Amino acid sequence: MKRLSDIGTIKEILSRYGFNFSKGLGQNFLINPSVCPRMAELSGAGEGVGVIEIGPGIGVLTQELCALADKVVAVEIDKRLIPVLEETLGEFDNLKVINEDVLKLDLNKLIEDEFKGMKVVVCANLPYYITSPVIMKLLEDRLPIEAITVMVQKEAAQRICAEVGSRESGAVTVAVNFYSKPEMCFTVSAGSFMPAPKVDSAVMRLNVYKEPLFKLEDDKKFFRVVKAAFAQRRKTVLNSISSSLGLEKQVVNEVLLECNINPQSRAEKLSMNDFAEIAGRIG
Ligand code: SAM
Repeated sequence: MKRLSDIGTIKEILSRYGFNFSKGLGQNFLINPSVCPRMAELSGAGEGVGVIEIGPGIGVLTQELCALADKVVAVEIDKRLIPVLEETLGEFDNLKVINEDVLKLDLNKLIEDEFKGMKVVVCANLPYYITSPVIMKLLEDRLPIEAITVMVQKEAAQRICAEVGSRESGAVTVAVNFYSKPEMCFTVSAGSFMPAPKVDSAVMRLNVYKEPLFKLEDDKKFFRVVKAAFAQRRKTVLNSISSSLGLEKQVVNEVLLECNINPQSRAEKLSMNDFAEIAGRIG
């Protein structure tokens, strides 16, 4: 098995294919050999498990996942990498590479078609330009998956893994906590990639709940309220919600008081339950 984290190997392969890194597609390939085995282990890949990988690049993480899991389906948008992956991962008969944009894929169908009878997990070194949309798609599509183990920018991971109700939390913290229990795993320095990005990264694992945290009449309303509350995070929750949702202050004030929430609080002080209570009452 070729060591695909080796700079010399990467350069040799990519130059043979005349490949240039695309900044727009978030192509920073891992060159630190200790990261992928750790990620694959943490992801839950193993016997009886199917893995969806997003953005295999030249296959550095994919080869670790293939070695552990029953089956891996890797979704890569860049068609220039497809022949590269055929060469680097040709030895694995438990791998399927799909040349698609992950944001446009019907992942429920993919799981039904490819992973019958298996537990399914997601593992990826995500392209940073679509971190939040990918994570939210994986969660909102209510996929039958156990966990999502992903590398993202360190700041994004810190925000997502913050305690709801802490200063570091944001709308994405609440949204992710609605569907899963996030866990920070380890940080990865910028120098672990080629080309090196400007910031450090971190691996986090989202342990996906079988059912979301609350049974709500309308999940969308919950997320509208969360977004509105954090839209102007320096303002009070009363001002932020009323101005973002275009509601009379008096109405919002009454709702907050009914929920036993101080209208002068900031969104970051509210709990998951507070947001659910507001969403249940607001028109
Ligand atoms: N897994 C490799 C590694 O760790 O070295 C590459 C990771 S690189 C940060 C992100 C990868 O995602 C690239 O291969 C890029 O082409 C791919 N990618 C970018 N946008 C994508 C999309 N919308 N759907 C699927 N793959 C995408």
